[in-house]
Amino acid sequence: MGQAITLDGVLRSGPPEVLLDLSDEQRALQQLAHEFAVREIRPVAAHYDETEEPPWDVLWKAAEVGLSCAELPEKYGGGGITSLVTSCLIGEELSWGDPAITSFISSSPFFADPVVELGTPEQAARWVPQMCGLRPKLGATASTEPDAGSDASAMRTAAVRDGSGYVINGQKTWISLAGVAELYLVFATTAPGTRSKGITAFVVERGDPGFRIGRRLGKLGQRCNPTGELFFEDCRLPADRRIGEEGAGFAGLMRLFDRSRVALAASEVGMGRAALEYAVWYAGQRSTWGSPIHNYQAVSFRLVDVKMKLDQARLMTYHAARLADAGRPFTTESAMAKLAASEAAWYSAWACCQTLGGYGYSREYPAERFLRDAKLEELWEGTSDIMRLVIARALFPRERSETAPPGERGISAPVPSASHIFST
Ligand SMILES: Cc1cc2nc3c(=O)[nH]c(=O)nc-3n(C[C@H](O)[C@H](O)[C@H](O)COP(=O)(O)OP(=O)(O)OC[C@H]3O[C@@H](n4cnc5c(N)ncnc54)[C@H](O)[C@@H]3O)c2cc1C
Repeated sequence: MGQAITLDGVLRSGPPEVLLDLSDEQRALQQLAHEFAVREIRPVAAHYDETEEPPWDVLWKAAEVGLSCAELPEKYGGGGITSLVTSCLIGEELSWGDPAITSFISSSPFFADPVVELGTPEQAARWVPQMCGLRPKLGATASTEPDAGSDASAMRTAAVRDGSGYVINGQKTWISLAGVAELYLVFATTAPGTRSKGITAFVVERGDPGFRIGRRLGKLGQRCNPTGELFFEDCRLPADRRIGEEGAGFAGLMRLFDRSRVALAASEVGMGRAALEYAVWYAGQRSTWGSPIHNYQAVSFRLVDVKMKLDQARLMTYHAARLADAGRPFTTESAMAKLAASEAAWYSAWACCQTLGGYGYSREYPAERFLRDAKLEELWEGTSDIMRLVIARALFPRERSETAPPGERGISAPVPSASHIFST
């Protein structure tokens, strides 16, 4: 080929026929998200990856069409979408455009959902509307610490009662939107030494005394969505910043993950689809020995495997979302969807790179970006190992416990079980 190809103008296929019984409204939202990805995300994806600048203009365009706060309650100015299936349809299309820009423009539920669920109506009315409108504020969710990632209940950031309020001391790391968010949902322990039992959620606002943004962390992929450190040094908060009861934060965090992992799986299917489409297109353009490379089974069968893995992951994702919409338990299905979809996205990106041969390694083609972006999916919101631990809990239900490690419930277990692996 020898000439740089961008995604813009190459791939214009519509969204796939995922489910046969979508409502007209769901189809319209899926189409809206797809067109937004074609027009507003794809043309700038390489630029934001290269510059690592936060894509503010894309966020504001998403806000204009209601995509940045689509899932927030209508009474606070959001789009009022409550169906996880609908969220997944939108997220898959946006991430087909670019996953890093998508996580920047669609982050609002990570902050807002726990505030609405655990907080008082007054607290929700205070913060959630700020994430709507034409210039929405961003909200971050901070659980991970230098010594508490997969094992979130080992967090040491402490909130100590002081008169009617709290004083927070500690550190968070790997926090998406650190430095660009105005609002931070911070998880801290109000009962050190009790692991998950003491974990409590607080809203910290940028500018609160004693709250400081640390370094921005350099990353392999998804680079325009900033990630960084947070520091709390005698950070004093009034009591009305506590979201929910003391000790209620951990269960809220786990419920957030159940939903967000399904949404993430949809996003992974979308990014995997983009890589597959690009590889299929390329395999039809590139010839060796006088024949398009898709005529070689080594090439076409590899892409067949990608298609199967992605379609399997999509079915698992929408199955988990439908269980959620039906009010049925879906923790295991959520973990399975995230595991399958993240691995499918990674495989698809790898196969795309492989299909392009040496051009797959070139920064003038999108395949290397697909690969860098896809790697993150096997790591955040619970690594693939942690997803397997969650799924193992369904296979071995005797080691059950939603919120407390075996030791805390007086049960001894010979090996660490999924029940006390708390991932973010
Ligand atoms: C780009 C990015 C953005 C992020 N954004 C956020 C955010 O917004 N908010 C937030 O709170 N966090 C965020 N995170 C943190 C992320 O969720 C954690 O990095 C992740 O949960 C893993 O934690 P860790 O890095 O401490 O790895 P560790 O927990 O130290 O794990 C290291 C390795 O050991 C494995 N492992 C650990 N324990 C077990 C076990 N019991 N069994 C089997 N294997 C195990 C893991 O799978 C992994 O391979 C982000 C991370 C990244 C990279």
